[in-house]
Amino acid sequence: MARSFPSIATDQGTKSKHMDYFIIQEDRSAGYTGSVDASHKWGLPGVHCPSCQDAWSGGANAYPSVDLTPVAALADFEPPRAESLEEYERLCALIRPLLPPGAQLEPGAGFGPLEGKAQGSFGQLFMYFDEVLLIQREALNKLQAEGLQGIKGCPTALRFRQRNSPELLELELLPVGRVHPKCLPPNPQPPCPRCGRLMHPLPDVLILDASTLPAHLDLFRLGDYCNVTICTGRFVEACQRLGLDGLVFQPVEVAATQP
Ligand SMILES: [Zn+2]
Repeated sequence: MARSFPSIATDQGTKSKHMDYFIIQEDRSAGYTGSVDASHKWGLPGVHCPSCQDAWSGGANAYPSVDLTPVAALADFEPPRAESLEEYERLCALIRPLLPPGAQLEPGAGFGPLEGKAQGSFGQLFMYFDEVLLIQREALNKLQAEGLQGIKGCPTALRFRQRNSPELLELELLPVGRVHPKCLPPNPQPPCPRCGRLMHPLPDVLILDASTLPAHLDLFRLGDYCNVTICTGRFVEACQRLGLDGLVFQPVEVAATQP
C-alpha cells in the first residue's frame, strides 16, 4: 500500500540550497616553492580483510589533535604495514575514546602532529598531497576572527633548514557529507560490511548529497571519499577578501536527496 509522508529529505535539501560548496585543491600556479616531506606521528596500519579479500589503506583521514601517548605502550602505532582485521579492530578500540566528536577511523588514518621536513616558500594555505591542509598562523587567526565554523589549527613538527621559516599548522578536517547516489554507477555496491572499503572509485564529476552536508562546518572532508576537502562559499569569500592564497576552489554541484 502506497502512502505518502511529508519528506524530511526535501526539507533538508531546501535548507542547504542557498549554500554554495567548493572542492579545495592546491593552487599550483601561485608561484611558491614550498614542499613538505612528512607524515603523522602515529597511524593505524592498513588492513587485510577476510571478507572483501583486499589489503588496503586509505590514509587521508588524519586527526592532528589526537595524542596517542596514553595508549602508545599498548600497541604499535608507528610503522606502516598491513595487519589482520582483528588486530586493526583492537587498535581502533584503543583510539576511539581519544577521538574528537564526529571522527571516523579507517585503515591508514593518522594522528598527532605532522612530522618531517619542509622547505621553500609557502602561501597562506598549502595543500599537501590533496589530503593535508596547512595554514600559516596569521591566516588561521584571521579566519577564526571571521567567525567561520570548524577552523581548528593543530601544531605541526616540521623541520625547516632555512631562515624565516613560516609557522605552519594543520587544519583538522572532520569527515562528514557524502556524494549523491546519482554520481555513482546505477545500483552501487555498498561498502564492505567488515572493513568499510568503498567499492567505487571517486566519481569524475562529484555531486554532493544536500541532506548530508553539515550546517555547523565551513570546512570538512567527505565522509565517504575522505581525500576530498570541501568548504563553503563563506570560506572562499573570506579567503578572497583577506587575500589568503595558496588554494583553488572548484564549485561542486549539490543535489537534493531523492525522496
Ligand atoms: Zn573488507
